Amino acid sequence: MNALLFALFMAATGCDKDPRPCELTGSRARLAAENKKADRLNLSRVAHADQILSFANKGLLVRVERTAPGYYVDKWIGVLSCGKREKIYPRRDDIFHLRPWTKEFLDTLAQVFTNDLSAGSSFKVTSLIRTPVYQKMLKCGNRSAARSTRHSNQSLHFTGAAFDISALTWSKDGKPPMTVEQRNSLRALLARLDRAGCIEAVEERNPPNFHITVWPEFSKNPKCKQLLIGDSPTVAGTP
Ligand SMILES: [Zn+2]
Repeated sequence: MNALLFALFMAATGCDKDPRPCELTGSRARLAAENKKADRLNLSRVAHADQILSFANKGLLVRVERTAPGYYVDKWIGVLSCGKREKIYPRRDDIFHLRPWTKEFLDTLAQVFTNDLSAGSSFKVTSLIRTPVYQKMLKCGNRSAARSTRHSNQSLHFTGAAFDISALTWSKDGKPPMTVEQRNSLRALLARLDRAGCIEAVEERNPPNFHITVWPEFSKNPKCKQLLIGDSPTVAGTP
């Protein structure tokens, strides 16, 4: 986006008055553009839970550990629903999957976070791949969840290229929450990667989450990884 368009976008959204960087503001137009890009990249969407394992068997999805250095997955992932707890996925393990380049991003971000931003603590992953049935259940409790059933405005979580991180600065699960400083550092880092076209990141408010769609560019373009790693000498495998 050129400087003039970016300034017009800021004025139109009012995001210049928002503590979130403008790059992290979501909109229907932005979601539609992301879906168009996913189409151009031929990113297929899962229609139901059984497809997740078949995508994984073809190498289109990879497993995500429930706990790893730098992050842990919300224990309620995949079971929250409207007013009652209900199992959406027949095999609970199915939900722990992402696209290979998105998993690579998650692992690298976790290394950067734990080594440089937070001295050994972890962030909470609150969403991974979703099915349309799960998305429908989410709509009653998550005001940020994409509501449209139209192809152009559907959730990028169906592709497996998107995941969410909790932006809460308090915790009720016994784990240390993200501090305000860590959240601000994460905001700045995600905004930088978004500007470079390596990811699409939105800071959602209700509930507070960073929604991150990672494009395959992250694995193909060394500049993307360098932007994420920054000056860190501590991330494994970097010069
Ligand atoms: Zn999300």
